[in-house]
Amino acid sequence: MNNVLEISNLSKNFGGINAVNNVSFNLKDGELLALIGPNGAGKSTCFNMIMGQILPNQGKIQFMGENLVGRPTREIWRKGIGRTFQITATYPSMTVIENVQIALLSFHNRLFSFFKKTKNQFQDKAESLLELVGMLAQADRPAAVLAYGDLKRLELAIALSNEPRLLLMDEPTAGMAPKARIELMALTSKIVATKSVSVLFTEHDMDIVFTHAHRLIVLNRGELIAGGTVEEIRNNQRVQEVYLGGGNTFELERRSNA
Ligand code: ADP
Ligand code: MG
Repeated sequence: MNNVLEISNLSKNFGGINAVNNVSFNLKDGELLALIGPNGAGKSTCFNMIMGQILPNQGKIQFMGENLVGRPTREIWRKGIGRTFQITATYPSMTVIENVQIALLSFHNRLFSFFKKTKNQFQDKAESLLELVGMLAQADRPAAVLAYGDLKRLELAIALSNEPRLLLMDEPTAGMAPKARIELMALTSKIVATKSVSVLFTEHDMDIVFTHAHRLIVLNRGELIAGGTVEEIRNNQRVQEVYLGGGNTFELERRSNA
């Protein structure tokens, strides 16, 4: 398997705090990689550096063999990295399908026209994306009336509109009810399996992580302390200590016995 993303010696310092400290990891083609760690570990900072929103103090971010450091966010998005936001970014007054069409038009550098028949404006493509995320039946509803879990699925369809090779999902299930969380991650797994896309995600719920991640990496206070398969991470002494220290290891143990 080829590496889609290669991160080496990545660091970010915020006023004396090493938010991310000399972190290196790879993400393979077709891989669902979980980035876990306690609050403040540096997960979001990693995401923001990959997406070009924060400039690293040091290190390399190679995507498909190209260094992304210093590139603007929009260019990175165009190169094939999509992101789902913790705060959902949709146009509430527009319908579900229009929201996807806008994203497709933007990717293809075209302007949305209310006067043109929407048929001409990537309708087929938008429908197939909505079908993939299970939202086709709600295509003509305004985004404003969607249940939160459905809004997240719409957001996923929007994120897929630029045909990303890599999707970044920073706590995609935050604020969702347990059933909807499980569904969203199952859907993400399906997308990884059916489209040629890799995913880097964070998630607090260890059940979800252990069920869906192909591999895990663990951050603590900016440092990468472990990486491996679900089994390896469950049995990793250092990871257990970190979660114990934060009062969370009980979670890891309980889940692994479940
Ligand atoms: P996580 O996503 O793992 O919870 P973050 O990446 O958000 O962690 O934060 C890592 C550390 O960097 C924390 O100590 C946080 O307070 C700090 N930090 C994050 N963003 C900023 C910022 N824009 N300015 C200053 N400090 C920040
Ligand atoms: Mg975060």
